[in-house]
Amino acid sequence: MMTLGIVVPCYNEEEVIAETSRRLVRLLHRLQASCKISMSSFVCFVDDGSTDRTWKIIEQLAAQHAEIRGIKLARNSGHQNALMAGLLGVSADAVVSIDADLQDDENVIETMVDRCAEGFDLVLGVRSDRSTDTVFKRATASGHYRLLKMMGVEVVTHHADFRLMTRPVLEALRQFGEVNLYLRGIIPLLGFRTATVPYKRVARFAGTSKYPISKMVSLSLQGITSLSIQPIRLVAIAGMFISAISVLAGLWALIIRLFTSQALPGWASTVVPSYFLGGLQLLSLGVIGEYVGKIYMETKRRPRFVIEKTTACLDSRAAARHMADETVETLIS
Ligand code: UDP
Ligand code: MG
Repeated sequence: MMTLGIVVPCYNEEEVIAETSRRLVRLLHRLQASCKISMSSFVCFVDDGSTDRTWKIIEQLAAQHAEIRGIKLARNSGHQNALMAGLLGVSADAVVSIDADLQDDENVIETMVDRCAEGFDLVLGVRSDRSTDTVFKRATASGHYRLLKMMGVEVVTHHADFRLMTRPVLEALRQFGEVNLYLRGIIPLLGFRTATVPYKRVARFAGTSKYPISKMVSLSLQGITSLSIQPIRLVAIAGMFISAISVLAGLWALIIRLFTSQALPGWASTVVPSYFLGGLQLLSLGVIGEYVGKIYMETKRRPRFVIEKTTACLDSRAAARHMADETVETLIS
């Protein structure tokens, strides 16, 4: 029977954490009673440098319930990093990540576990209904996914960070040593057998959003810059376009000068070179940017391929672990 770990990143979530823990422990017990997961399954809260009583509450809950564990980060490192700390810090056959406010229906985890038992390594929760989100949140979320797709980033629309990953997927993820982290963009790059589960997103049951507009913009930029060099290419294209226009303007000025009497003295010699040089500069910046972009992608040292399994008796997980450049210590087992 598989051991399930539920990872919950928390930032200043003192108002929700006790209720979240109650609901998740209840879910674990239900799944254990129906023999879908082992008795050693657990919930791991990751405190992302909260400034309120979040960590105190986690400690209390861990003392009261054998299923509850906690990891505390030294400072607020952001949702994505807190998630990574949890995902790579626990040891389980499958790990589900879910937000602390349970806007993502925790009962869907049962369906995820069922899909996993059918042989899927990656089960993505996709929001089929966001009617409880504000109009602003819905508009920014749609814009976010559209922009990412335009930039060539492979994302599953309306899938956030509610997903189940099996151990091989986590071991593959471990090899992505990037600092500029955008899990929703990296996960589709991993491959593996993937299933999606639709669910209805509900409102936060307490507290306020920990994702202000500044954090949303930063997540969007992270998504683009960590997975696409399209913006740099656009700079080069703009440069080429402006240069081409300036050549046409030069030709036009020449025609006016040769065939009409309306030529303004000094106009062409001032305006045309300034546009031409401007365009050329942008083009050069774009070309340099292209190389910087390449270097940038290289310095991430992403693995060129990911081994899903091997035919020999060699455990693919051990192989993946062996191949990892950087081994993150298992904090909790
Ligand atoms: N979160 C975090 N670190 C942060 C911001 C948010 O760990 O710096 C967590 C937060 O506690 C929650 C999840 O990320 O569990 C999603 O945040 P929230 O529900 O506030 O975002 P929203 O649903 O409003 O987009
Ligand atoms: Mg939320």
